[in-house]
Order: sequence, then C-alpha cells, then structure tokens
Amino acid sequence: MNFKNKVVVVTGSSSGIGADAAVYLAQMGADVVLVGRNEMRLNDVKNQIISNGSSTPLVIVADVTRDCEKIISKTVEHFGKINVLINNAGILTEDNIENITMEAFDKMIDTNLRSVIQLTQKAIPFLEQTKGNILNVSSTAGMKAVANLMSYCISKASLDQFTKCVALDLASRNIRCNAINPAAIRTPIYRTLGIDSEEEQAIFNTYQSRYPLGRIGEVSDTSAAIAYLTSDAASFITGTLLNVDGGALVAGFD
Ligand code: NDP
Repeated sequence: MNFKNKVVVVTGSSSGIGADAAVYLAQMGADVVLVGRNEMRLNDVKNQIISNGSSTPLVIVADVTRDCEKIISKTVEHFGKINVLINNAGILTEDNIENITMEAFDKMIDTNLRSVIQLTQKAIPFLEQTKGNILNVSSTAGMKAVANLMSYCISKASLDQFTKCVALDLASRNIRCNAINPAAIRTPIYRTLGIDSEEEQAIFNTYQSRYPLGRIGEVSDTSAAIAYLTSDAASFITGTLLNVDGGALVAGFD
C-alpha cells in the first residue's frame, strides 16, 4: 500500500490507535495531519514520525467538539487537499440508564458522534476533489450491548449507521466511507476510567481469555486495518464495518 501524495487527517492522534495509525501511514508515504487537544503528546508523535524519516506532519491542536472548521481550513491551507479523513477521536465512560446524567450523555454524543458528523460534512468538498475516503473508528460495542457502557454503545451503534448512510449518499461522488470495529485494544483509554494498572491488566486478562484468537488487540492490528480500508487497494469497498476483534463477536463476546 502506498500513501505517497495522500493527505491524511487523523483525529485523536496524540495517543493509542490514532497515534499508531498516523505513524504507520506516514511510513507508507502519507502527509499526516495530527489532531488532538494535548499539544505535548501531539508533538511526541510528530517527532516519532520525523525520526522515522517520514514527511513532517502538521500538528493541529483542536477539540473535535468545537474546532471542526479550524481542522479542515488549516489542513487545506498547509497541504492544499485532503485525501483521507480518519475520525478516531473518542472517549470511553461508564454509565447505565440509572446513573446517566444528560450532561454526561451530551458529552459522549458530542465527542463520539456529533463531531464526526460535523467534521465529515466540512471535509466533503475536498474529498470530492481527490476521490477520497472516510474511515470511522467504531467499536464492537456498536454491535453488541456491553454492561455499564450505555452511552458509549449508543454512540458507536450510531456511528455504524452513520458510516453506512454516508457511504450510500456519497458513493455517486466517488467518496468511500468505512469503519473498523475493534474489540479491546491495548491503549491508554481504559485508564481514563480511573482504574490503576492492576485493574487494567485484569480487564485485559479477562478479554484475552474470551477471545477466540487468545489475545487482545494491539494498535498494530488497528493500523493495518485502517491502512487497508483507506488505501486504493480497497477502492471497491464502501459502507463496510470491519471487525478487528480476534473473533470476539462471532464467539458472542464484545
Ligand atoms: P486513547 O484514550 O488512547 O486516545 C483517544 C484519543 O482521542 C486521544 O488522542 C485524544 O486526544 C482524542 N480525543 C478525545 N476527545 C477529544 C476531543 N474532544 N477533541 C480532540 N481529540 C479528542 O484511546 P484509543 O486510542 O483506545 O481510542 C481511539 C478510538 O478507538 C476511540 O474512538 C475509541 O472509542 C475507539 N476504540 C478503542 C478501543 C480500545 O479497546 N482501545 C476498542 C474499540 C474502539 P487529546 O486527549 O489530545 O484530546
């Protein structure tokens, strides 16, 4: 797969899945745009990309819930075009119907869904020019109910439907739209639930014992799937939700 002369915007690329995907795509020749709120961590990823000998990425310090216009305009100002939009930024919180507050629900939907709709809409004119594509980072939690992750599951299920609707509506303009649906991937996201490293390891051990392939996912697994779906090799694929889950869903787990 070759991403030479392709401009790829990756939201949430200061950490985890987004950071690794940005480094991986840059290694394949992409001009990468790093987006997140934490400038220090974005610069760490930028330096890693430069030290690999890849093209210098553009860093945009931005909150996806507020700064969609800025993300698109700064990208186009700097690189002149957009070939791929990777909607990866997301949050994970625990809640259920008894304890959810409307403020917490709004924050989840604003971050994991509304921002994706807004950013995608603003990217369309540029994606049309390049016959580009959109990749949404969803979750197996979009396909299966997970206890105490109600608002997260709702956000990802909606993202899956968004992916299919956008694929249908933009196909005639030669813009593809796909998603990956990972199961547990080893990233810092679990620590944002306020757990310590021992509790985190216990979660990973539980998942590992359930997944048919006998391990949890690594960011290299998601990066490979993202690269394939956003590359020209997948030019006949749109509206697809690709499970990156070690067989979890077919075994009935999330
Ligand atoms: P991390 O916590 O490691 O990374 C989350 C990223 O999202 C960070 O770069 C963070 O950047 C960014 N982000 C969050 N909120 C905002 C915001 N308002 N504006 C801009 N950036 C934001 O998590 P992961 O890498 O694990 O998660 C990435 C995606 O993958 C998420 O959508 C998640 O739901 C999904 N996913 C993860 C799985 C897992 O097991 N790890 C499984 C399935 C799906 P910053 O803090 O700099 O703003």
